[in-house]
Amino acid sequence: MNREPVSRELFDEVMVPNYAPGNIIPVRGEGSRVWDQDGREFVDLQGGIAVTSLGHCHPGLVGVLQEQSEKIWHLSNVMTNEPALRLAKTLCDQTFAERVFFANSGAEANEAAFKLARRYAWEHYGPEKHEIISFTNSFHGRTLFTVSVGGQAKYLEGFEPAPGGIHHAEFNNLDSVKALISKEKTCAVVVEPIQGEGGVMPADPDFLKGLRQLCDDNNALLVFDEVQSGVGRTGYLYAYEMYGVVPDILTSAKGLGGGFPVAAMLTTAKAAKSLGVGTHGSTYGGNALACAVAQKVIDTVSQPDILKGVKARSEKLRKGMMDIGERHGVFSEVRGAGLLLGCVLTEQWQGKAKDFLSAGLDEGVMVLMAGANVIRLAPSLIIPESDIEEALARFEAAVIKLTA
Ligand SMILES: *Cc1c(COP(=O)(O)O)cnc(C)c1O
Repeated sequence: MNREPVSRELFDEVMVPNYAPGNIIPVRGEGSRVWDQDGREFVDLQGGIAVTSLGHCHPGLVGVLQEQSEKIWHLSNVMTNEPALRLAKTLCDQTFAERVFFANSGAEANEAAFKLARRYAWEHYGPEKHEIISFTNSFHGRTLFTVSVGGQAKYLEGFEPAPGGIHHAEFNNLDSVKALISKEKTCAVVVEPIQGEGGVMPADPDFLKGLRQLCDDNNALLVFDEVQSGVGRTGYLYAYEMYGVVPDILTSAKGLGGGFPVAAMLTTAKAAKSLGVGTHGSTYGGNALACAVAQKVIDTVSQPDILKGVKARSEKLRKGMMDIGERHGVFSEVRGAGLLLGCVLTEQWQGKAKDFLSAGLDEGVMVLMAGANVIRLAPSLIIPESDIEEALARFEAAVIKLTA
């Protein structure tokens, strides 16, 4: 067995170079703190990109994972299993959904959503009605279909030809949707209630309400990609509740497993009928280990005091970042909701988000970017207040060094 020590340099020798990871290798995490190979400690405001919703190695999650690992791991969908059924029931009880499909990643949940929208329209209205409308700057995953629906052309470069029938309207601009939507051709409108990768950009409430109306008028399904905004991130179990707009299909991943790969597509009984036996599937989808962990995440996150805590933590973090922004002239705005926040760099610091990330690491705080002009924060939903304070102090120290 190869137990040679590994270093960051090894990445460049053995990994496909599609990522450019930071210079440290974290080896242990507890709550919102992380330790690297040299024992250096960091406050984690990355949250694994909105994934480790209950922090690192949450005792409750470790407990259910250990417990389930001694019962049964995997059956495939030739058999169903208790954790999957329980989780589906919980998701139906807690949301608009009446049916659930499990997958392993956000892209796969979206792939299922887009395929369902196509198949539903095909079955009810015919093959002409296959067009999908999504938005500029949106992100829906990296499979060929989801990256084509996504609104960032650079992610598709060199991978064409893309699947057809996909149109991009302008986010938060209803008129641009009206210009594209039609009863004859549109099967779905796909939107992130808060664009995550696209710079932590919230939808205007009237925009989402307008999309709901346009979809109803044109017999199109409204799909909310809540892969990043879901599972308590906004202080609501799902962001659609915050907006008071109910979609026909919702996709959930990232925070759902708290770090264990699992995803779900939620939908109505009526739409679900269009994915009959044999039309779609996934070997791992509904895996017993994944569903047992996700059950614990949902049971925990959906508690009112946890959701209220997200709002309180959000206020503290938002105010702290705004104060730092004002004191040092680095942020023009802090936007987003709950614990998905985007600090927008001022004119003078445009394009420099990466520098803030590395400066943060040097001071012992892990933050994210969302494009080159936005510092994104997506910490654990139960990050202790004292860790928020420590993270803010460390981040300010980083900003002071950077602006010196
Ligand atoms: C991360 C993300 C995805 C893709 O999820 P993967 O698990 O990486 O496939 C899709 N949509 C949104 C909104 C995301 O933030």
